[in-house]
Order: sequence, then structure tokens, then C-alpha cells
Amino acid sequence: MTTLRTPAQFIERGLVPPDKRAELEAVAARYAVALPPALAALIDRNDPHDPIARQFVPDAAELDRRPQELADPIGDDAHSPVEGIVHRYPDRVLLKLVHVCPVYCRYCFRREVVGPRGRGTLSAKAIAQALDYIRAHKEIWEVIFTGGEPLLLSARRLRAVMRALAAIEHVKVVRVHTRLPIVTPERVTAELVRAVKASGKATYVVAHVNHARELSREARTACARFVDAGVPVLSQSVLLRGVNDDAVTLEALLRTLVECRIKPYYLHHADLAPGTAHFRTSLGEGQALMRALRGRLSGIAQPTYVLDIPGGAGKVPVGPCYLEEAGGHYRVEDPQGGSHAYPPAD
Ligand code: SF4
Repeated sequence: MTTLRTPAQFIERGLVPPDKRAELEAVAARYAVALPPALAALIDRNDPHDPIARQFVPDAAELDRRPQELADPIGDDAHSPVEGIVHRYPDRVLLKLVHVCPVYCRYCFRREVVGPRGRGTLSAKAIAQALDYIRAHKEIWEVIFTGGEPLLLSARRLRAVMRALAAIEHVKVVRVHTRLPIVTPERVTAELVRAVKASGKATYVVAHVNHARELSREARTACARFVDAGVPVLSQSVLLRGVNDDAVTLEALLRTLVECRIKPYYLHHADLAPGTAHFRTSLGEGQALMRALRGRLSGIAQPTYVLDIPGGAGKVPVGPCYLEEAGGHYRVEDPQGGSHAYPPAD
């Protein structure tokens, strides 16, 4: 089986009806499309609301562009001093070496720059300049690989970049944001896991997972390869209407992640990416879900619900608040909604 890349292939595999062909051609002309076999196999063709299909099968709703949507929703370009680097916060940079992915998520916040018509892979010269920038900025404590899919770099090139980072004294932490272990788990080889580790630095992997069913046996094995090699794995998920916007589904996802030794890290409010209104919930709905999870789910399974402020001002927690102050006294709400007084400082 091969990766599905055209509406004709999706129709042939029975993932979309033939009468949708023209509108899906219009979507594919606008945004990148790819669905690898391991992921296609997880789709239940008998379920018209299948949460895996909803994330990856192109949909005519993507042609509905809203005025508030932005080509660069989180303002990467406004904070990019050299190609491949985003320096938004003093102590860390994003390193974006690759703008292609093994799958194209229909809600992707970088959908204008990823894909075969996107920004491609950085040249050797651009990578050298990005590394020079990191070397020159002593305040950079952490380097975060993101993309596109950083683990599409060959193990040889990845090793070379990790070696360069390992030699930079002020860099202490390397973090790799990836969807690869989930969508093409067969690519997580022992060689790739070795290549990801920057010698002498704390290396973390952050896996992008939105639904418990994405954690197939193969995906679990792929994530376990990192954990077993001493690379902690965290998760980030996007709150998506029709995929995981109910407490039961989110709870199942978060429990499954912890059972796989993956610590839930972020639940992102969906960004204002073009053609993604059908995926976005309100912030109020997100807060209500976090409130529902607080009472019923172990603390180690609780992610932080975050919003990337449009335009690039940064990421902030937007979960519910359990503390109120009035007249110098506090009131604290418990997970069941009960209210309790708490004294001010002595
Ligand atoms: S893997 Fe990440 S960068 Fe690639 S399409 Fe999905 S969300 Fe976008």
C-alpha cells in the first residue's frame, strides 16, 4: 500500500464518495494532501464521523475561509531572524529544517508553508546559518525541532545537526516535535532513535496525538523505542470539533497516553488557520472540558490547555481558574464545583 495523495486515490480506497471529486480537487489544489497506509488502515469506513478520517481526509469545508483566519496564525515569520529559526522567547528557539510531512493534517496551523509546494527542506548553507545564530545567542537554553516533520530528515543529517548542537555549551535541552511515531511508526528505527539524541544534552520527544485510536500497537511500539532509549516522550494534542471535543474521548486519549508512558503536555486550542473553522471549538467549550477532566482524571494525565495568541504574542494557559479573590479573602472551587474559603497570607 502507498501513501494516498490525490482525491482519485481517496475515492478508489472508498474513503470519499465519487461525487465529491470536483470539490476535493479544489481542496487538493489549495492545500497539501497525504495519508500514509498505517493511518488509512485505522479509519472505520462504516463510520461517517470517524475521528481519524476527519483529521486527515480532505473536506470541502476547507474551502470556507473566514475573515479572522490568518496565513501565519501564530506569527512565526514575525519572529524569524534567519531562515529556519523562530526566536519568540529569550531562552528557546524553534528550528524548522523541514517543511514536508508524511501526513497532512487538515487543521494544520502551518498549512500555508508545508507540503510539496511549501518551503521545502533547508539547504546545507541555511542550516549552517541557523546553527551560527544559535551559537551566537548565549541566552538560548533549548532548541525545539519542529516543521513540517523534523524526523523526515535522514538519520545522517539529523545526527550532524545534533552533533553541532551537542558542541554548543549554552544549549542544554533539545526537544523534537513530531507526528512520525504515530503516523508512520515503521520509520522509527533504532538508527533514528540514536540520531535524535544530542550527546550531553537532555533530549525530549513531543508526539502529536489527538485521539486514542491513533495509538495503534505499532505507534505504541515506536513511542516506547524513545522512552526505552532514555528519551522522555510528552504529548501535544489539538482540541478539534468532531475528533476529541467531548470529555469521554479526551479522557480515553489522556489515559492511553499515560499508559504508554507519554506525559500529556499541551492541549492546544485550535489556531486560526485558513479553512479550519469546522474544527474550532469556542474557548468556553475548551474550559468546560478541562473542568470536566479535573474531577475524574489523575493529575499526571492532565495537560495544560493553551492558546497561541494570534499574531505571535506567545502561548498562554486558558484553562478554567479555581481561585477568586474578594475583599482580601480567597474562594477556591473544588473539582465538584463546591466553593471554599481560604485565608489571606498571615
Ligand atoms: S504533521 Fe504537523 S506540520 Fe505536518 S501537517 Fe500535521 S500538524 Fe502540520
